[in-house]
Amino acid sequence: MKILVNEEMCIGCGDCEYSVPQVFEMGDDNIIMVRVIDVPEELQEQVLLAVETCPYEALSIA
Ligand code: SF4
Repeated sequence: MKILVNEEMCIGCGDCEYSVPQVFEMGDDNIIMVRVIDVPEELQEQVLLAVETCPYEALSIA
């Protein structure tokens, strides 16, 4: 599972980082970065929830 960030949609609210800090990290430019290339299986459920609940629909799964 890979995560895509639409940088034009992310407003840097930090919700996804708060939910899954092992995977999401806020960049200096206030746009979220993905810390892993492939999401480990044990985090996939949390990541899916973060993707679904991003208030600006900036995240998607590849
Ligand atoms: S929840 Fe969405 S808008 Fe908020 S920081 Fe994460 S990707 Fe950006």
